[in-house]
Amino acid sequence: MMQVDALAISAHPDDVELMCAGTLIKLERLGYQTGVISLTTAELGTRGTPEIRKQENENAARIMQLSVNKILDIPDGNVQVNKTNKLKIISQIRDLRPKIIFTPHWQTRHPDHSNCSHLVREAAFLAGLEKIDTGQPQHRPAKIIYCMEIYDFIPSFIVDVSETFEEKIKAMQAYKSQFHNDSQEHNDEGATYISTPEFLQTIITKGQYWGHKIGAKYGEPFLVREPMAIDDPVKHFSGHRFAGLL
Ligand SMILES: [Zn+2]
Repeated sequence: MMQVDALAISAHPDDVELMCAGTLIKLERLGYQTGVISLTTAELGTRGTPEIRKQENENAARIMQLSVNKILDIPDGNVQVNKTNKLKIISQIRDLRPKIIFTPHWQTRHPDHSNCSHLVREAAFLAGLEKIDTGQPQHRPAKIIYCMEIYDFIPSFIVDVSETFEEKIKAMQAYKSQFHNDSQEHNDEGATYISTPEFLQTIITKGQYWGHKIGAKYGEPFLVREPMAIDDPVKHFSGHRFAGLL
């Protein structure tokens, strides 16, 4: 079974591209194994079909150079925080043994995303309990990292994704049925919140905004609930290439 260092878990295929694709691609380039799990096939989506979304999902995974890319069978529009779903995620976490997990921040627009966030935190904790028997060794990831969607928060840290932002946009645009693209394909299927040229521009502008905060061209903001330990503040801050951004 393939194991990963960093795993992103989201409700729908195409969520992760917006949440943290720049960081996942960066981690892959640093030599880590990366993976994505979508809880649903997004069968309720306004545009495209599950078959089209699946193909688009595979294309995006290739662009992101993922080691693992899975779609689970939880029903779209009904991602419940229940025992069945927790066990499905526990089993994935124990198989893939990620060191860190990215998931949406719990305060977000789509209820499936919010429930995904709660499910992932609970499952990640429970995956470390030996007496929950799934026939696999227990595993608890070191950290859950929450990604920014529509609502802003003060990030715990921002990853410089200047080198990978172009690939992030390519991965996002692999979902031709969902996001604006110049080919005009799917453009007669009815506009959604994310299908307009303005939405694409907003993603780019947000990338620049968060990048600017750390003196980089593009950034992706993240939140961890717990305070972060720094062993050597002198080395940590003065050795950083953005030192002096006061
Ligand atoms: Zn979604």
